[in-house]
Amino acid sequence: MDILLVGAGLSGAVIARVLAEAGHRATVIDARPHVGGNCHTERDGDTGVMVHVYGPHIFHTDDEGVWDYVNRFARFRPYRNRVKTTSQGQVYSLPINLHTINQFYGRTLRPDEARAFIEAQADRSISDPQTFEEQALRFVGPDLYEAFFKGYTIKQWGLHPSELPAAILKRLPVRFNYDDNYFFHRFQGMPEEGYTAMIEGILDHPGITVDLNRSFTRDQAAGFDHIFYSGPLDGYFDYELGRLGYRTLDFERFTYDGDYQGCAVMNYGEEEVPYTRITEHKHFSPWEEHDGSVCYREFSRACDEGDIPYYPIRQVREKALLSDYVARAETESGVTFVGRLGTYRYLDMDVTIREALDAGQMFLAKGGDMPVFAVPPL
Ligand code: UDP
Repeated sequence: MDILLVGAGLSGAVIARVLAEAGHRATVIDARPHVGGNCHTERDGDTGVMVHVYGPHIFHTDDEGVWDYVNRFARFRPYRNRVKTTSQGQVYSLPINLHTINQFYGRTLRPDEARAFIEAQADRSISDPQTFEEQALRFVGPDLYEAFFKGYTIKQWGLHPSELPAAILKRLPVRFNYDDNYFFHRFQGMPEEGYTAMIEGILDHPGITVDLNRSFTRDQAAGFDHIFYSGPLDGYFDYELGRLGYRTLDFERFTYDGDYQGCAVMNYGEEEVPYTRITEHKHFSPWEEHDGSVCYREFSRACDEGDIPYYPIRQVREKALLSDYVARAETESGVTFVGRLGTYRYLDMDVTIREALDAGQMFLAKGGDMPVFAVPPL
């Protein structure tokens, strides 16, 4: 069969590969001049630093199948994400761990003591935290919440933490030991030559044709047996019901002769500092040596027409609109919506790959008779 994949990010590339390996012909198009979507990486011409062009991406997963899969297409180097945060005039370690707690409170608590100490700060009247704020007050108490989460989250989401779901904070662990690994997954690493090279490797198959700088319009469906669409769900329907809300990011790029901050990611917890974080890209490739440095100051704001969508907002209003778009999509045939933008979900890379592998397999198992959503967005 002839299949069109709209979007050359992880979803499009992985599904194309599954189908091509099974003998189908896959055409992958992307409006941008490069593959990789928002994972795109590019070496800076002056410094030689591998830059995460659309912001930092660190690969971490518990899914051994996904880990094996990415290792087929890239050599992964060990990488531990150790994030720092600046707040109230000091630099602290994230995620909140024993070092953070002891430094913040000027104590020398052991693990059990720290657990009891934090539990005493926590608001135990909250039994089933629903919002980000409730989750924070229940598990770390008001002091740490104010210093590390409140301002950052207001900047990141443009919303008060009392309006955001607890699930967003549940992404971050709290540890009563000195483990400062930001993630708790078994496998973690960074592709040696960047994500774009890895995704080019996935797309490098005789059954796959890649067409860049090509925007999708629905009339291009003619001639294809099926479409996998990983662009914005509302964009597929020309925004006829309105726009799904996203946060977009602005990066203020600057270079530095030397080591600017000594780590890859420095968050800024306070609302008064206008950016959420500064990333120093050479530290994402700690096995490389570079004299010069490329850094991004990262600012978050509402995504407007023409901006690049990053984080789906998924508040009550957006969910209502999403459900209208899902109903609209269910009337279509010959198309399957996939990935972060196609299903309007906050997805990590490993989950995106898992879902793409499964969608590709589902296509093969069903002989192409695919549902509109392989994973329901709601
Ligand atoms: N967060 C925070 N302070 C921090 C880091 C994260 O308040 O220093 C909150 C923020 O709301 C963020 C969420 O925790 O959206 C999840 O953080 P994560 O680092 O997973 O976000 P990502 O790297 O995906 O932007």
